[in-house]
Amino acid sequence: MALVARVNPTDGEDTIQTALDFVRTHLNMEVAYLSEFVGEDLVFRAVSAPGFEDQCFVGGGMPLDHVYCRHILAGRLPELIPDTAAEPLCADIPLTTAIPIKSHVSVPIRRRDGTPYGMFCCLSRTAQPDLNPRDLSVMRAFADLSAEQVNDKIASRVARQSARAGIEMLLNEQAFDIVYQPIVDITGNRPKGFEALCRFRPEPYRPPNLWFEDALGVGLQAELEVAVIAKALKSLDQLPDDVYLSVNASPSTVGTGLLTDLFAQHPQERIVLEVTEHSMVEDYDDLVSHLDILRFRGVRLAIDDAGAGYSGLQHIVKLKPDLIKLDISLTSDIDKDVVRRSLGAALVRFAVEIGADIVAEGIETDAELAALTSLGVPLAQGYYLGRPGDLDSALAWFEDGQKTA
Ligand code: C2E
Ligand code: MG
Ligand code: MG
Repeated sequence: MALVARVNPTDGEDTIQTALDFVRTHLNMEVAYLSEFVGEDLVFRAVSAPGFEDQCFVGGGMPLDHVYCRHILAGRLPELIPDTAAEPLCADIPLTTAIPIKSHVSVPIRRRDGTPYGMFCCLSRTAQPDLNPRDLSVMRAFADLSAEQVNDKIASRVARQSARAGIEMLLNEQAFDIVYQPIVDITGNRPKGFEALCRFRPEPYRPPNLWFEDALGVGLQAELEVAVIAKALKSLDQLPDDVYLSVNASPSTVGTGLLTDLFAQHPQERIVLEVTEHSMVEDYDDLVSHLDILRFRGVRLAIDDAGAGYSGLQHIVKLKPDLIKLDISLTSDIDKDVVRRSLGAALVRFAVEIGADIVAEGIETDAELAALTSLGVPLAQGYYLGRPGDLDSALAWFEDGQKTA
């Protein structure tokens, strides 16, 4: 019972360490380790060897020719050796005399494809004639548990490598396109601006936020967000001069400072930066100081997805945005739902108080638009008003030839 309590299945390293500590003390041996075969060597990946730390430490290792592993894998030596003196082959293995090894229990750890990964091993400088098949069963059970952890780790490393390769491919080949969704003035119906949204080309289609999550997971979020914004901003000079472009970035990308130079190459008063808070902002002061640099140069700040759960009021209060974008979860069915309507009304009043404009997102029906208009929301975005489309579809809004309002 105590053993179960000590094994923490959510933490692979701890589980393997606990397993090694347990088998070493249970079998009354001096050294236990989990090894990996790397080329012609064995490398210790986890170790339980109090008093032998100089010889047996994580990252250390020795040539496979000096140890028992290959012989056990080939069936020339048994997994359970209570007394090495009883196995003539042991005398030929350099480590037997170097330590000296008098008893040895070792079982293979295999990858999920069946290939050997390494060994789960216990050894002692004294013979252990009491060691029996039940002890070997215990050893195997813990080796299997450890193998699960090792294989989970390998699988997540492979997944991470392939996700990173996928994002690097997107970046190298610029395998994404920008679509533009109109943000219309509720009274005039002419776009005041467009939100630039990304569409990644690889099939099957995946929503853009999933690609950005992958990028975050492999440390390439800022690179990807900046590359997408750079591509979007190239279209700014084709849009009418009084129309803005809204681009999306996470707080951590803002914190890199990479946007400062990029935005400086464009008319900054026509850029709106939408910042979402999908995870905790660790240092608001740092974020505010980066945003202040951009805002000083004319960039306007929007808080995206307000009311969605992550963008709390605190986020709005601390960042004092120019625009607050009401999330679809708040605007959907707002004409039918009194709670959403009251919350919407409160946010409109709040926005007026802090001198911000409101953009209602996700408008799909005339009734939703009417409800938001009656609340005094000035700007709206949604399929009912215009779906995200390519640059030509954005320019079609102005086909009367007017480049300015
Ligand atoms: P978001 O920034 O809040 O973008 C609004 C999302 O709502 C877009 O989804 C848009 O297509 C969708 N939408 C617009 N009108 C309606 C409507 O009437 N009904 C419904 N159901 N949906 C509507 P999309 O393009 O799939 O993007 C999803 C999220 O992915 C975005 O949410 C944003 O968080 C992220 N994303 C998209 N493009 C970019 C980008 O270029 N950079 C970054 N950093 N994130 C992006
Ligand atoms: Mg957005
Ligand atoms: Mg949004």
